[in-house]
Amino acid sequence: MRARISLLFLILALSCSKEKYTKRTYLAMGTVVNITVPADSPDAADSAFLAIHLVDSLMNPISPLSDVNRINGNSGRWVRVSPYTARCIRRALEIAELTEGAFDPTVGRLVHLFHFDRAPDFRMPPEDSLRIARDYVDFRKIEVSGDSVRIGRGQQITLAAIAKGFAVDLACEKLDSMGVTGYIVEAGGDLRVRMPEGAKIGIRSPRGEGLFGVLRLRKGAVCTSGDYERFFYFRGKRYSHIIDPHTGQPVEGELSVTVIGPDATTVDALSTALFVMGSAKGLELLQELKSYEALFIEAEGVNMSPGFRKYLEEVF
Ligand code: AMP
Ligand code: MG
Repeated sequence: MRARISLLFLILALSCSKEKYTKRTYLAMGTVVNITVPADSPDAADSAFLAIHLVDSLMNPISPLSDVNRINGNSGRWVRVSPYTARCIRRALEIAELTEGAFDPTVGRLVHLFHFDRAPDFRMPPEDSLRIARDYVDFRKIEVSGDSVRIGRGQQITLAAIAKGFAVDLACEKLDSMGVTGYIVEAGGDLRVRMPEGAKIGIRSPRGEGLFGVLRLRKGAVCTSGDYERFFYFRGKRYSHIIDPHTGQPVEGELSVTVIGPDATTVDALSTALFVMGSAKGLELLQELKSYEALFIEAEGVNMSPGFRKYLEEVF
């Protein structure tokens, strides 16, 4: 993936004791990756980053040899992939089912038409090509058997809405297995924390430069899907880079959705799905998902699931 260096992180990890921890910065998955580990074992960050680099090489949409591109280049046929890719796609399918297709990895053709995989040159494609691409959206046509994957003939998948979370989880699993008990792994604003003393995490205000508020979290993941970093205007209307798979159109009107939960894979995919669903339907779904909480910042106002509030330390 092309490196997209952004000073405007969706979420900023604000504070943890400077003497006790050290932070290393890398580029992967088209964004900046920050890994904070105890100062007495700084190399643990490099080991964790290797996991992120691996996920990038398997799931990026650019390299012809990535698993995602091999799957897309062989639509209709079984493709042997890495066990990590198979695991990520299995989880993607579960979340697609759970969200009734608000999250759907088969929006690949649409993503490509809008150039959402080629930021910053987003565009509104012609209506007839949109209609064709929309007909290929159906996550139920993806099959996974062992470490092999088959998508429907002509379908194209993207894992852009889940791969960052998956990579963060893999890096955290690595740190856990090394006995590291305090860390923050963050990729382009999507992060997972394990910090006994708690970490402060800023949620960016979707309009303007400031923060909406600050969260405090000891253990868990936080991801945001927003319309403020990646968007375009067409005939005076502002469109986000997130597509409603049911209409084939980019979502309008949602500003940002921040999700908290135990694992970054689910939280990443859920933030995209809830962005499509909006707060009314999204809050209903969250009632069934006990471990996940969300904050919706919308033009009409701010809504959150009841459990989100307990993580909010400050609101500006
Ligand atoms: P995120 O920033 O995690 O919400 O991911 C958004 C990216 O995922 C977009 O740039 C697209 O590449 C892709 N995408 C857009 N809409 C969807 C959707 N409804 N389901 C799955 N992936 C999507
Ligand atoms: Mg996402």
